[in-house]
Amino acid sequence: MEHLKIAVFPGSFDPITIGHESIILRALPLFDEIIVAIGKNSDKRSLFSMEDRKLFISELFKGEKKVKVDTFDSLTVNYCKSLGASYILRGLRTSADFEYERMVALANKTLEPNLETIFLLTDTKHSYINSSLVRDILHHGGNPSEFVPKTVCELIISTKEK
Ligand code: ADP
Repeated sequence: MEHLKIAVFPGSFDPITIGHESIILRALPLFDEIIVAIGKNSDKRSLFSMEDRKLFISELFKGEKKVKVDTFDSLTVNYCKSLGASYILRGLRTSADFEYERMVALANKTLEPNLETIFLLTDTKHSYINSSLVRDILHHGGNPSEFVPKTVCELIISTKEK
């Protein structure tokens, strides 16, 4: 069988924003499968549960067969290996992102030389958007609709009403 190009897009996605969505859409032609992998990060306080974050992403991409959603709680390189993924996908917004991502990608390359990290430069219009901005807006009762995809915005409203 032909070797499938599987990429893991790891992150917190708390919640997924239009910036994340754009990276996934732009990466679609490059891979056979993209696994959006929600990592458990004990350093970051989360707003949404892993289940809610997973639901937001799976609803957003329910029409796209190439996109799968998963959660993980292990070293990213080991997680990728367990799935047979050869690529890690990351977005780059700023030079601060670059410095951090450089360290992580080089460490991952040392741990697992066959795994390549692929970076996509953020679209200019999304370069200031991040999940913590959305969390702040929600925390203060604001409307995040400019920053999260419409489907996700509707789901956020319905989870808040529960
Ligand atoms: P992490 O805690 O791993 O940084 P995030 O959910 O914040 O998790 O980000 C996951 C990935 O998405 C990272 O590669 C990040 O650079 C990218 N990303 C986040 N926001 C944007 C954006 N606005 N545009 C493009 N990429 C983004």
